[in-house]
Amino acid sequence: MAPPAAASARQSASGRERNFKDKDKPDSVRNSNIVAAKAVADAVRTSLGPRGMDKMIQSGNGDVTITNDGATILNQMSVIHPTAKMLVELSKAQDIEAGDGTTTVVVMAGALLDAAQNLLSKGIHPTTISESFQSAATEADKILEEMSSPVDFSNDALLNKMATTSLNSKVVSQHSWLLAPMAVTAVKKIINSDTDTNVNLKMIKIIKKMGDTVEESELIEGALIDQKTMGRGAPTRVEKAKIGLIQFQISPPKTDMENQVIITDYAQMDRALKEERQYLLEICKQIKAAGCNVLLIQKSILRDAVNELALHFLAKMKIMCIKDIEREDIEFYSRILGCRPVASLDHFNAEALGYADLVEEIPTGGDGKVIKVTGVQNPGHAVSILLRGSNKLVLEEADRSLHDALCVIRCLVKRKALLPGGGAPEMEIAVKLRNLAQTQHGAKQYCWRAFADALELVPYTLAENAGLSPIHTVTELRNNHANGNSSYGVNVRKGYVTDMVEEDVVQPLLVTASAIKQASECVRSILKIDDIVMAVR
Ligand code: ADP
Ligand code: MG
Repeated sequence: MAPPAAASARQSASGRERNFKDKDKPDSVRNSNIVAAKAVADAVRTSLGPRGMDKMIQSGNGDVTITNDGATILNQMSVIHPTAKMLVELSKAQDIEAGDGTTTVVVMAGALLDAAQNLLSKGIHPTTISESFQSAATEADKILEEMSSPVDFSNDALLNKMATTSLNSKVVSQHSWLLAPMAVTAVKKIINSDTDTNVNLKMIKIIKKMGDTVEESELIEGALIDQKTMGRGAPTRVEKAKIGLIQFQISPPKTDMENQVIITDYAQMDRALKEERQYLLEICKQIKAAGCNVLLIQKSILRDAVNELALHFLAKMKIMCIKDIEREDIEFYSRILGCRPVASLDHFNAEALGYADLVEEIPTGGDGKVIKVTGVQNPGHAVSILLRGSNKLVLEEADRSLHDALCVIRCLVKRKALLPGGGAPEMEIAVKLRNLAQTQHGAKQYCWRAFADALELVPYTLAENAGLSPIHTVTELRNNHANGNSSYGVNVRKGYVTDMVEEDVVQPLLVTASAIKQASECVRSILKIDDIVMAVR
């Protein structure tokens, strides 16, 4: 076949391009992305605030969760659209960074997407919108910083207020008088408030036990172990305990390779049994010789952590035995009990042991039991919380709510500043940003104004969820902020706009600052997508 002439080739190429290049495609992809993400945001919007609704989430196998926590709702929701998934990730990111404000961040992202959609329809280029949103977010951060006030970490009453604000919106809010101070005390116990800039929440062990009510929950200055004591006849209560933590097993060793030993006569069998006895007895004796009377054994997947015979020996020697300590809990227990984890019998000696006044097994209703260690000699910056609840749903939500409250206090350790709540920071940004927008030119001014309007959705939603007239409330709030009442917010209890600081509704700066930053970042990345490409695999 003759090669086609150069000119006609060029012509056909451009013709093909015209056929294949769909000018409207980026627009429609962007639009469908925004619609999908907005649908997710709308789903959690009704949960925002103290008067927000809760969601009942049913999983495929029939498990039910009742929650108000944005991150939990989104995490369990099955979303298919890739951009909708970005909002799920967004709320996760907020959960990691701040721990609270997970609904707020999604509501904000939804509002910003809505604003972006409007701006796009006016013909403003996505890149312009994205850049303007970024600069607006930077301004917003400055405004927040200006309106925040410093926190004195020794002011427990103030910290309590903040923990209470975060618990306000939860199912267990009527127990906040107990849970809020508990969160404050727990965090304060494990940090050095002068030097620390972060909190390792792993050092606060929350053990959930069904039974009783949330009000019976307690903070324990010592350790709780979610296990039972093992062995018949072994002590279940030991005073002046010397605690050992071992990572080896007290059971017959296994060969490295899979093989079989064939025993042909009774004498051989007898010898094998005797040797096993001897081997286990030797280990138990050595443990006893070190002075240990409470033994914690790490969970083992290779073989039994401790077998029946060894339990029998330990019981005879009056050693309390607790098995199946999870690998990730070893650090916690070694810190709180002041004992050193020992990986081989040779290193098991008196120095490795920790000391406690009392170790006892306490019943927690039903056949549940938990081991409580009190009077530890050297409380090594770790605490335990025994959380109670009359049913599984309440118990789990109490756990999540307490986690939020702990995170709020952690935020204050990271950044010691607070803001009034109830939509005050969002409105303050909206008012100030709209003023600042006057100094900008062209499309940027438009985008900043849209950004400011979008943030008003937070107070709007708070009012709407509380059954107030959102338009009236937001207008009144806007007036107040324009007149310099920067701490005014939506008072959901009284049903009008008041000074939030007087109402004791305060929240950490980090929660709001991080929400605005993350939401605008997420919206910017959604705007930049102009095509969804399916991968081969
Ligand atoms: P998130 O998961 O984002 O933390 P919440 O449902 O906890 O969502 O709601 C948090 C919002 O509720 C914040 O804006 C906070 O300021 C507001 N809020 C909390 N308590 C009150 C209150 N008593 N009055 C008004 N607003 C409140
Ligand atoms: Mg909250």
